[in-house]
Amino acid sequence: MTIREQLEARERQTLAPQAARSGDTRGRVRPETEDPVRPAFQRDRDRIIHTKAFRRLKHKTQVFFSPQGDHYRTRLTHTLEVSQIARTIAKVLRLNEELTEAIALGHDLGHTPFGHAGERVLSSLVPGGFNHYEQSLRIVDVLEHDHEGLNLTWEVRDGIARHSKGKNGLPVGASPEQRASTVEGQIARVADIVAYVNHDIDDAIRAGVIQESSLPQDAVAVLGGNPSERIGRLVTDVVEQTLTGDLSEVRMSGDVLEAMLALRSFMFEAVYENPVATAEFSKAHGILGGLWEKVRATPERFLDPRTLATEGLDRAAQDFLAGMTDRYAVNLFEQLYIPKPWVTVSDDDRML
Ligand code: MG
Repeated sequence: MTIREQLEARERQTLAPQAARSGDTRGRVRPETEDPVRPAFQRDRDRIIHTKAFRRLKHKTQVFFSPQGDHYRTRLTHTLEVSQIARTIAKVLRLNEELTEAIALGHDLGHTPFGHAGERVLSSLVPGGFNHYEQSLRIVDVLEHDHEGLNLTWEVRDGIARHSKGKNGLPVGASPEQRASTVEGQIARVADIVAYVNHDIDDAIRAGVIQESSLPQDAVAVLGGNPSERIGRLVTDVVEQTLTGDLSEVRMSGDVLEAMLALRSFMFEAVYENPVATAEFSKAHGILGGLWEKVRATPERFLDPRTLATEGLDRAAQDFLAGMTDRYAVNLFEQLYIPKPWVTVSDDDRML
């Protein structure tokens, strides 16, 4: 028996019957020999961490445009907070921590530069629109590993593809077609919302965009007066309610769900879609729009030749722009649009 097989056997003994077991995965698109040590979902998690797209998350906006302060979240620290919350819930419920972790770590790989604003811009540029969760799946299926894809298991791909339905999507209680097939995937989704609502409030207060006192007070009364209390309350509620429902799906109680949705609506109004708070984001439109034009004018210079040949210009340009970090987009825009000064003043000149 290999070490992996021993671990798979341990999962069978210790996980809840409703858990997704590594040994029972629906498998990979291209069959391959499994690892001697790591069960399938753990291996998928490792594959995601080793991608370039994962490393780029550190320079992608969560909410604030290229923040100068060291304490603002980036897309990477958001991802880590989601993963931590998802694992906490999965562990208590005796579900598969590695599966929910793999989904959490992969869920935002396809995010554009400049956060929500960047996604809106790209959606207006790309014929047929753009969604970060579809791009996340495209990254793991097609683009990473030098265009071989990561060949992840069905369960991880399903969780990544169905983690988000935008600002009106339900964190729990969605119809079976709208939600992840595994409970672990549903946990990653609810953990995403628990994480971003709370850390974005924290960052928005740090930035002076909102005050703690401006939060909807009914929601604060239910969830707590600071992010730590609120996350604790939300996680506990998810755990208790899901247990009550015998782990058939992830659930929350009515008042806690309502309070979380109230905070999310508040954040959309006060921060994500607020013209004052997102004034800097109007620049995302100019930058991404300008880059979209330039890279399409000379595709052979910028875009992936394999994608150009097989899927065409729009798709190749979408991949390039969506993959950029904030600073990469700004730098390339400067290079392509801002003329360099003819003469640089050297130190010698200045001394004359
Ligand atoms: Mg997310």
